[in-house]
Amino acid sequence: MPELPEVETLRRQLSPLLAGRLILEAWFSPEMPQLPAWPPEAASLMSWLVGRRVLSVERRGKYLLFPLDDGNTWIVHLRMTGALLHCPGGPPEDRFLRAWFRLDDGSWLCYRDVRKLGRMWVVPDPGQVVGKLGPEPLSERLSADALLRALQGRRALVKALLLDQRLVAGLGNIYADEALHAAGISPLRPGASLSPQEVERLRRAIHEVLARATHHGGTSFWAYVDARGERGQHQLHVSVYRRHGQPCPRCGMAVARVRVGGRSTHYCPGCQV
Ligand code: ZN
Repeated sequence: MPELPEVETLRRQLSPLLAGRLILEAWFSPEMPQLPAWPPEAASLMSWLVGRRVLSVERRGKYLLFPLDDGNTWIVHLRMTGALLHCPGGPPEDRFLRAWFRLDDGSWLCYRDVRKLGRMWVVPDPGQVVGKLGPEPLSERLSADALLRALQGRRALVKALLLDQRLVAGLGNIYADEALHAAGISPLRPGASLSPQEVERLRRAIHEVLARATHHGGTSFWAYVDARGERGQHQLHVSVYRRHGQPCPRCGMAVARVRVGGRSTHYCPGCQV
């Protein structure tokens, strides 16, 4: 699933291509009636988008936000396998193409989704969709104090808490595992057991891991591709994620894999305590 670094990579690529562009025409595949989450029918989502100008491209957590010239905001969540592709030569022949948007510079924005789990909204107030998200970990809004408050009194495991989008926005399975390894903290610790020093180490590790992965254009173990259809490179730089059985790059002990809250979790039993 695209997490913060993948969606931020898309935002950076799409921003110069879409800001100021007028949407001249739109098409939605009838095979994907659930794609518009609001308004609930493709026909009405199209009528909200066609004729509108995209003002900018923003990101909140794993959501892409496109403020429009009528005051509404178009929001896209890619879920498992969604991809937004900029297609200068027109929509490709592709059976997984679920929607396209023709722009006034002669290019197209295409939406591809194999698993058909992605969602789109057009809303007057983006808070209706992203209002409950926690602070952005790439900004100063995720302070050690905020993270400490979020973990305090929580008996749930720190790995599970990091996946809760209300606590920190944008982390998923890959970067939660990588951040806990970088901080030297076991994913199996209850949230409340972390000392203020450990929480500060974790905050810094989250920031560094996300910034480095964004620098590498995101991680492509599976479906993720950027707006040009290219894979990210961060899977070549991970420390523990999907490296179970291989030596930890810090201490050499074999990386372990366990399940936490139904999600596979990778960590080093030697140096994550
Ligand atoms: Zn280790």
